[in-house]
Amino acid sequence: MTRPRPLLGCIADDFTGATDLANNLVRSGMRTVQTIGVPTDTQAIDADAIVVALKSRTIAAKDAIAQSLQAYAWLKTQGVEQIYFKYCSTFDSTPEGNIGPVTEALMDAIHGKDQGFTIVCPAFPENNRTIFKGHLFVGDMLLSDSGMRNHPLTPMTDANLVRVMQSQTKRKVGLVEQSCVAAGPDAIRARFKALQAEGAGVAVIDAVSNQDLMHMGQALADMPLVTAGSGVAIGLPQNWKARGALAANAKADTLAAASGYQAVVSGSCSVATNAQVLHWRQRGKPAFAIDPLAVASGTNVVSQALDWAKPLLAQGTVLIYATAEPNAVKAIQSQLGVAQAGELVEHTLSTIAKGLVHAGVRQLVVAGGETSGAVVQALGVERMVIGPQIDPGVPWTSVTSPVCNGDTVHVTLKSGNFGTNDFFEKSFTLLK
Ligand code: ADP
Repeated sequence: MTRPRPLLGCIADDFTGATDLANNLVRSGMRTVQTIGVPTDTQAIDADAIVVALKSRTIAAKDAIAQSLQAYAWLKTQGVEQIYFKYCSTFDSTPEGNIGPVTEALMDAIHGKDQGFTIVCPAFPENNRTIFKGHLFVGDMLLSDSGMRNHPLTPMTDANLVRVMQSQTKRKVGLVEQSCVAAGPDAIRARFKALQAEGAGVAVIDAVSNQDLMHMGQALADMPLVTAGSGVAIGLPQNWKARGALAANAKADTLAAASGYQAVVSGSCSVATNAQVLHWRQRGKPAFAIDPLAVASGTNVVSQALDWAKPLLAQGTVLIYATAEPNAVKAIQSQLGVAQAGELVEHTLSTIAKGLVHAGVRQLVVAGGETSGAVVQALGVERMVIGPQIDPGVPWTSVTSPVCNGDTVHVTLKSGNFGTNDFFEKSFTLLK
């Protein structure tokens, strides 16, 4: 019997966004593997969906195009049927891109120059991202009134997605309104045809509910390229279930049993992470604070932290953190510089994480987006198998690492503002 091929191939423009998408696919019954960058080998991956995690959101458009096309070419070697280009639910981009240029390049590769038809839909109603009459809302606010208008790299000052996308692409952009989406998949398909007849190559689609995403999902069954946030992924697996390519009651979030010691490494200074660290410390659980100034002055903080942790590991979970309140972070940044402080702490925490895995930790919670990138790199992780969700957007994953001779390590990468106050305890309880 030939091995079933992966069905869906995804290209994500950032790291934690890739995990968010993978989490939605797993919740809908697709066994999902996430790769860190484009794999260099063509070994077949046994999964229903593959998510290639790139860091292409804010790099030069030509580099984002080159990396995305490389990911596309690799996904084709895996035999996937449909391609999904994933971007942020707040449509993070600049007038130069990279959402428009990458979409253009993928369409040219898949359909031929200036041909084909695809959608744009960053909606994720469960996370309060909705689209109505082509306008993107963040909770009750238009995107352009939300905090995104002040984003340091991708300020979003226009909530009209038809206009925003049109400024980034040569193809004509149209709109599928919510009344049409609510009418169901046939109405959506008819609207796609009408838009194509008018010369459109891209359609922004309204969505205000999961029901809208399910209708949309059916209408996208035969679309070779879908571009969207992570929400649209909720509606796609039903198509393969209807065809029998995926079991109707498929359960995709099962990981191998966890073993080994448990640790948390936290480099996030976001509000939610500060509350999680405080919650942990207030319960008198073992915690070791990293002082970035001590690191900068040459103290071997890595050895100190590992010497502290090793005798405690057999007794339970340890937390090692650089997490600090905004004033403390500012004080450190003013002495060391913003980028230098960030890099110093990331390097320290990722070296500690490596030391912990070397010492037998096989269940590791990492808090912070950039911190997660540094840890995954230090552990030499190439692939992550996505498992059960701990909190919205944060699943457990299992990886193998050369640091422990290819042993399995259960890892969760928590983006700064995700998770409830008891996230650290809850994570390990869920794994049991
Ligand atoms: P989040 O997901 O919350 O944004 P990140 O890990 O992406 O978390 O970013 C936090 C950044 O802050 C990292 O670069 C980290 O190294 C840095 N950092 C962590 N603790 C401190 C600290 N005490 N002082 C200065 N910078 C810090």
